[in-house]
Amino acid sequence: MSKSHLWAKELEYRRTVLNVVLRVIIFSGSVFVINNWFEGLKVLALIELAVVLLSIGILCIHRKTPHLTFWASVFLFSVYAVILVGIYLVPFIAALFTWLFLIPVLSYLLLGIALGNVFTSVFVVAGVAILFNDQFSASPAMPPISVANIGLCLSAIWALSYTYEYKRAAVVKRLQQMAAIDPLTGLNNRLLLESIFDMLCESLPEKQKSVSMLLIDLDHFKTVNDKYGHDVGDKVLINVSSLINDVRRRNDWAFRLGGEEFCMLIPDTSECQGIQIAERIRSAIEKTIPIDGVAINITVTIGVSHWPADGKTLNQLYKVADNRLYEGKKNGRNKVIARDPE
Ligand code: GH3
Ligand code: MG
Ligand code: MG
Repeated sequence: MSKSHLWAKELEYRRTVLNVVLRVIIFSGSVFVINNWFEGLKVLALIELAVVLLSIGILCIHRKTPHLTFWASVFLFSVYAVILVGIYLVPFIAALFTWLFLIPVLSYLLLGIALGNVFTSVFVVAGVAILFNDQFSASPAMPPISVANIGLCLSAIWALSYTYEYKRAAVVKRLQQMAAIDPLTGLNNRLLLESIFDMLCESLPEKQKSVSMLLIDLDHFKTVNDKYGHDVGDKVLINVSSLINDVRRRNDWAFRLGGEEFCMLIPDTSECQGIQIAERIRSAIEKTIPIDGVAINITVTIGVSHWPADGKTLNQLYKVADNRLYEGKKNGRNKVIARDPE
């Protein structure tokens, strides 16, 4: 399955969370700037103003930037730094320490487990250290039991946030795999076809841009089911898939589109090479497949289309390959049909 496809979905989720958090910080930060300025804490007000302006800047670019994790890290670093400076400067009665409780939640939501661990450890420990340090002053602002309570509550939120993110990431990964992989054959399913096609067309350098599409359909498969039973039919599908996989090169993509229809996307090949691969698949499958000691004759018909000669969108390529497949079926099956050589 395409790792970049999964990562794109994950980033989309983080972009949405970042959008909400930025708006909250811009609003509450502005309130703090005004309040601290009039309270005489002008240095703190100016630092907060800088964070508000930085947040506005990140809000403007967060939808488009390819460096989302970097900007989320810069944003969290500056917000956490201001929280720590605030706790150090502002009287305890202002209860600024309550913002510490956000640190584990924001870190794991926006940065994932690994970076979330780093940010949470550094800033939670630093925040508690500042509160604890106050105990050594001549007249501590809060009783030791308050510091203990804050520390325990922070630990609980930290543990819950970690567990939530760990489980969420695992479940999302599992669901994405289930949605993208055909359970019978282990090939990619049609949900992934579009994103893989886009990825191939976007990632290939201009000179190498060429993709062959093979639509592969088993001939008279209904008869196999009727004659040998559905279970044997399933085993035939598994066998055909592994034959397709054997012929597939490292950068080629194979899909089960549904039923007894398969598809391959072959990047960076000439039209001729695409046809050769289709021919190799056709002849590999034509050889008798032994299933449970019974020799079963299976053939496939393959329609081939080529990007860009036959069209530039997935739909155009699919239609052309499908028409050629239909032509092959009409003309006796067990055939590879590609563009007429002019
Ligand atoms: P043609 O050569 O024209 O393609 O004929 P065909 O019999 O292969 O095509 P048709 O569309 O008439 O029948 C497809 C059959 O594939 C019907 C259905 O029972 C069978 N089929 C679809 N999905 C599965 C599956 O997951 N397992 C099994 N065993 N059979 C399946
Ligand atoms: Mg068929
Ligand atoms: Mg079919």
